[in-house]
Amino acid sequence: MTYTPARYHEDESIANTLDDVARAHRILELEGHGDMSMGHLSYRDPFGRGLWLKRGNLALSEVVGDDFILIDFDGNVLEGTGLRHLEWPLHAEIMLARPDVNVVGHSHSHYATVLGATDQELGPYNNHGVWFAEHGVPRFSDTSHIVTTVELGKEVAKQLGDAEAILLRNHGVAFVGDNVIEATLAGIFLEWASRFQLDLLQAGVSYPLPDHDETVEKKRRIYPPKAQRNYWMYFNRKLERVEQLQGIGIAQV
Ligand SMILES: [Zn+2]
Repeated sequence: MTYTPARYHEDESIANTLDDVARAHRILELEGHGDMSMGHLSYRDPFGRGLWLKRGNLALSEVVGDDFILIDFDGNVLEGTGLRHLEWPLHAEIMLARPDVNVVGHSHSHYATVLGATDQELGPYNNHGVWFAEHGVPRFSDTSHIVTTVELGKEVAKQLGDAEAILLRNHGVAFVGDNVIEATLAGIFLEWASRFQLDLLQAGVSYPLPDHDETVEKKRRIYPPKAQRNYWMYFNRKLERVEQLQGIGIAQV
């Protein structure tokens, strides 16, 4: 192993944070979020200029620290080169509506998109599902189309409310966090909890909903910041092992 913990998320300069956000893209591809060159994460500029958004025409698995453009909240490109993803309003409007959110992710992860196409509500049926126990996971059903206008972005942000993620019916998902670790875990746990729930549905037996207050407390207990960092390091070690074997840009393990 060649990793050292200081390489990940110890220094919060923009360049180092974007390196972490790039890793988050590559980790998310490993965990089922890849869909050709679609999907993107953004990071709120700490100087209030707008947000750093992954540039277009790259798979999640191919993103490195230079692959971001700085846009303002109206979508004007302030720094960087490359294509601006069409769905930039989804990021900008969520960040405008949620001052507590510094990282936004959007992808077409398979199982969460399958669940999103149903009328099933995602519940805290396993440890991954309890990440969303407090606010639930709303479903955006206004359109199955992509979120390319400010109006649609505002509506997604409104329906997201205080939640950590939202299902975009017949399209994909969006997930958020105070920092790159929270957003990455939200994306991964959303996909894993959706898969778990789809397995429950297929089992054809009843599956009672765990108690709300219990699962809210459970989230605090099992995912304190120390545990979140621990899991972030796990995913980074896994990514590093895969990239040592195959280089950056793998789509499948
Ligand atoms: Zn999309």
